[in-house]
Amino acid sequence: MTRRCALLLPLGATLAAQPAESPISWSPHPVFNGAPVLFRSKIWSGPATWLDKEIEFRPDADGFTALAGVDLKRAPGNYPLTFGSRTLDIPVTARTYRTSVITVAPKFIDPPQEVQARIAEESATKLKVFKSSVPERLWQGAFTAPSNTRYASSFGVRRTYNGKTQSVHQGLDYSAALGTEIRAANAGRIALAAKMYFEGGFIVIDHGESIFTLYMHLSDFLVKGGDTVEKGAPLAKSGASGRVTGPHLHFAVRWQGLYLEPSTLLRLWSA
Ligand SMILES: [Zn+2]
Repeated sequence: MTRRCALLLPLGATLAAQPAESPISWSPHPVFNGAPVLFRSKIWSGPATWLDKEIEFRPDADGFTALAGVDLKRAPGNYPLTFGSRTLDIPVTARTYRTSVITVAPKFIDPPQEVQARIAEESATKLKVFKSSVPERLWQGAFTAPSNTRYASSFGVRRTYNGKTQSVHQGLDYSAALGTEIRAANAGRIALAAKMYFEGGFIVIDHGESIFTLYMHLSDFLVKGGDTVEKGAPLAKSGASGRVTGPHLHFAVRWQGLYLEPSTLLRLWSA
């Protein structure tokens, strides 16, 4: 039995939506707003389009795969994946995200005048980094957890900071005591290793194909910009730097400009 069959067997209702003869299968089940999506095919290699984004099926261990994602704000519906002259409807369901209230040091809500230039410069650096992805695929197989510790806060939660500033939590927080080893979720190139105002000790890995993983609030760096890293390579120690309520790792996944739900990414290969 192939891995693809095993993937389909226990899923009951999704079999109807994803027939065995379908040239392309996908996970997670169901797909939802904010989800990273792994497409697999035995036969299709090359370009495809989904949700107005270009993706590329490339050789993988068991056929061809392409990573994609759904904007957090995407309405539920059937969205056609176009490959060659064919299309396949991919159903996207609605996931409801929670809200929470957070209190941080006031300087992170109303940054003082003297740090405004620094914040602007760091924003420019980030924009540049997120445009720097190499077109080839540097990641290989499943993405793995950056820390052995437990989740403290999930992706997509709508947060109110200090009773006023509102934002969506764009990553997954791992509770991590100071000095916990943080590891690369997959192979790639260190696109950024710097200390920033909001992110604190901040590392960004470019996995190619416009997929980045981000690691924030770090202390000691074990890598530097431009380094090549293997999956699981130690990157840094966890810390409590930047806009935090306490020591933790903020782990985020950015794909083609969208932030996607990290815990789903870590399960896509075994789902
Ligand atoms: Zn966080």
